[in-house]
Amino acid sequence: MIYAKEESLRREDLQKLQLQRLQDTAERVYTLTPFYKEKFDETGVTPEDIQSLEDIQKLPFTKKKDLRDHYPFGLFTVPMSQVVRVHSSSGTTGKPTVVGYTKEDMDVWDEVMARVFTMAGGSAEDVVHNAYGYGLFTGGLGFHNGAEKIGATLIPASSGFTDRQNMLMKDFKATILASTPSFALHMAEAAKKSGADFKNDFKLKSGVFGAEPTSEGLKEEVSKVWGIDYHEVYGLSEIIGPGVSCNCKHSKLLHVAEDHFYVEIIDSKTGDVLPDGERGELVITSLTKQALPIIRYRTGDITSLHREPCGCGRTLVRMESIVGRADDMIIVNGVNVYPSQVEHVIANTEGVTLNYQIIADKKGHLDKLDILVEVSDEIMTDSIADMERLKKEIQRELANNLYINASVKLVEPRTIERSMGKAVRVVDKRRDDA
Ligand SMILES: [Zn+2]
Repeated sequence: MIYAKEESLRREDLQKLQLQRLQDTAERVYTLTPFYKEKFDETGVTPEDIQSLEDIQKLPFTKKKDLRDHYPFGLFTVPMSQVVRVHSSSGTTGKPTVVGYTKEDMDVWDEVMARVFTMAGGSAEDVVHNAYGYGLFTGGLGFHNGAEKIGATLIPASSGFTDRQNMLMKDFKATILASTPSFALHMAEAAKKSGADFKNDFKLKSGVFGAEPTSEGLKEEVSKVWGIDYHEVYGLSEIIGPGVSCNCKHSKLLHVAEDHFYVEIIDSKTGDVLPDGERGELVITSLTKQALPIIRYRTGDITSLHREPCGCGRTLVRMESIVGRADDMIIVNGVNVYPSQVEHVIANTEGVTLNYQIIADKKGHLDKLDILVEVSDEIMTDSIADMERLKKEIQRELANNLYINASVKLVEPRTIERSMGKAVRVVDKRRDDA
């Protein structure tokens, strides 16, 4: 089933709709936000210059830093009286990225999430177990609203308490699971331990998973252990939250809700737009957002676009599952970690050098982070007790500043693997190609 008629428009009708919405959005940000007025003027472009969809390439990019620089509400285009919801995500420094929604924005978000559940075979007959964390993070409430929109019975389980979650899923006969893929596996592990009979105890038929980089192997494992169809959901709070794209039953590529989000792939170094099929950085322009419209937002995510027709009848462009990050950001148990943040902590610690290596791996089904740090030549002679204290200090600072539990290992000078003379910063063993 297809939820909305906009998902299967003829290409020319969709493009007409996109162009009109793009023109409205350009006009809106130009007249209502000094930030965009200045950026447009600097680039020498006005909203009237947008006469075709290709003209979007004349517009400047927006970066995460722009949102942070205008913390908290500086890029909003409506008075706060019209903002009905605020969410935020963690940032590289102390301040988070804040996003806002009008009533109309919430309707769009609910609808794109309803499309997601429909792609996963959901309807009013279903019971949706939502194990995404509720709170400022857009995951919990995004999935929550979409499930309600299709009339399903929604169980707002939130994260944690694995055994109780399994009990509820079983007793309430959940048919669709919404969670991070790693938590889905963690739940399966716990169910196995308690001797569950997956075939008879659970009624799950599909799952909607996202919010963390996931290898094909992990997806297959989740799908196999629970005996369900795996649907991947992509999104980010800066654009709307989850619901930007999702894959249908016919394909692993994710249909983008193009009537609301205009997507481009660029070469992240030159900023040039790349042709369909080529991998590059995903750039998204919101077409209907009211509270926080955003022009050519550089997501930092690496993917490619595909326009071959899909067996489901949707005509929307499809994107490949994210293959990596333009910068080196890694996500550890749902928390964004940038090497630059780790570096900042290490730089402020006496006795260690800036030669470090971050190793992300799996422990069971959850992520774990090891950080190797080379100590300075001088400190090599210090006592073991002092080294232990130093290690603890770095771990404490990482926990305080980045909200991560990392295991720090102090190593001898010049022992970390180097490439072109520099220590290799990030080793992500969770990726297929690692
Ligand atoms: Zn499809």
